Amino acid sequence: LAASSSSSTRQVKLDKECELRVEVGETPLRFRLLNGTAEIFGTELPPEIWLTFPPRLKFAVFTWYGATVELNGTTETDYTADETPMVSYVNVHAVLDGRRSRTKASSADAPGSSQGPRVIVVGPTDSGKSTLSKMLLSWAAKQGWKPTFVDLDIGQGSITIPGCIAATPIEMPIDSVEGLPLEMALVYYFGHTTPSVNAELYKVLVKELAQTLERQFSGNAEARAAGMVINTMGWIEGVGYELLLHAIDTFNANIVLVIGQEKLCSMLKDVLKNKPNVDVVKLQKSGGVVSRNAKVRQKSRNYRIREYFYGLTNDLSPHSHIASFNDLFVYRIGGGPQAPRSALPIGAEPSADPTRLVLVTINRDLLHSVLAVSFAKEPDQIISSNVAGFICITDIDIQRKKITYLAPSAGDLPSKFLIVGSLTWLET
Ligand code: ADP
Repeated sequence: LAASSSSSTRQVKLDKECELRVEVGETPLRFRLLNGTAEIFGTELPPEIWLTFPPRLKFAVFTWYGATVELNGTTETDYTADETPMVSYVNVHAVLDGRRSRTKASSADAPGSSQGPRVIVVGPTDSGKSTLSKMLLSWAAKQGWKPTFVDLDIGQGSITIPGCIAATPIEMPIDSVEGLPLEMALVYYFGHTTPSVNAELYKVLVKELAQTLERQFSGNAEARAAGMVINTMGWIEGVGYELLLHAIDTFNANIVLVIGQEKLCSMLKDVLKNKPNVDVVKLQKSGGVVSRNAKVRQKSRNYRIREYFYGLTNDLSPHSHIASFNDLFVYRIGGGPQAPRSALPIGAEPSADPTRLVLVTINRDLLHSVLAVSFAKEPDQIISSNVAGFICITDIDIQRKKITYLAPSAGDLPSKFLIVGSLTWLET
């Protein structure tokens, strides 16, 4: 393994079942497939066409039969690896494919009853969960299936901004540059990047998402046969573990893929042994997965929010709006500081309701907050409603009672009900 960093145009020849691992530097990298066949996380590269990868992207170009690729620009690092877990990953895909075909065949006899594979990918942070999810989805889409991607990772989700849980149908292999499409996504806003802030609310939202998908599937045999791939958080201890079990249960997952964690795998096998229809499968972590420390994670969250407003290549033009305090209704869910146990009479439980809706008085504390725009028609529907999109508060004028906010477009907001959490974004 020779790591290098250079800026010229150069070619790299890859032997069969090898991959080139690339970390793009602070400037975009141009890249193309010269000959042979190769894929990036399950999506085949088009022959000879130059692709431009954005700064900081980390990816691997894998080839099953051999390929030559060409790079133009600087990389942070790039090296070739001949040891990858790709064969075991594609074997999982083959099993899922078989289950989908069987489901489709049986649904012809008994319409409405059959359900394709529901895969949940679990493991610690930086084990390659989202990458494996994307591969399984892209391989399935290549074969004509339309699986649903569910992303429960509020820390580093791949569908939309952090702090959300979301789902979207995957109708074609995921674009290696653009990532996942947002147009058809079903998004719920938790508003925090760690679940411990309000684990009960997290569960409630996971349940809402699952129920909505279940309703959509009931009228869509194609989507049901294709099944789901569910990505989870890297939080696997304590409350995190409890939330994993909750997700497995809520989505009726029937295949649990555990990446790179012996202990978690055996714990899950043990608790799920009474459910004969749930398979727990251990998979090896790829040596190419890049670890990110807390600071890098925070930065990448900020980039994600920036990307939401401005696009990956500054191709979007967000719009600054001014509204009066009384035009908008900002709600916090489970708000209000919880009374410490020590302040309560002996035996009493802290009574803050984790799903209580609190109307927030607009003040300077909201500056830089990222708010979700709810689809709710009435406040009491806010928790059970998905969201249309996000705005970011850029100024608050207490004297004139005016809020300035950034929105993706110049149009009116689809609703006046907004949800605030602890997520903030400061344009730099
Ligand atoms: P997790 O979801 O478990 O936190 P990710 O799948 O997001 O982990 O992987 C972490 C980072 O490593 C991502 O930036 C991803 O693109 C990168 N990555 C994953 N697999 C490889 C690989 N084989 N080669 C190079 N980079 C990789």
